[in-house]
Amino acid sequence: MVADRQIAPHEAAVIGWLLDNAPVGDVTAYRIQTVEELRVIKRCDCGCFSLDFQPNAWGGARIIADSWVVYSDGQRADLILWEREGKIVLLEIVDYDPRLPHRFPEISNLGIPASSC
Ligand SMILES: [Zn+2]
Repeated sequence: MVADRQIAPHEAAVIGWLLDNAPVGDVTAYRIQTVEELRVIKRCDCGCFSLDFQPNAWGGARIIADSWVVYSDGQRADLILWEREGKIVLLEIVDYDPRLPHRFPEISNLGIPASSC
């Protein structure tokens, strides 16, 4: 699904949260980039709310943040942030139950520590 738009404030907030709270390795370099200036160039064809910020986002990409979501009705999803060559390329949202409507999480849905599961 082709798109070309500025990232929405609630989407940028989720990426900022991931970098602050669920980093994989040292993500300082990504945190100082202006997440609010990312452009969404593609939505996932499956209908989920995964966001591509670069063409061919999967090619050679590396995980820089990883967390999960629990929605208010108990449904879950994984959130994975990918980079390539120092740029954020993809926010992946993996809905655990693909039969349910896809959605984009809010900050309040994020970040339940593994120890409390
Ligand atoms: Zn998808």
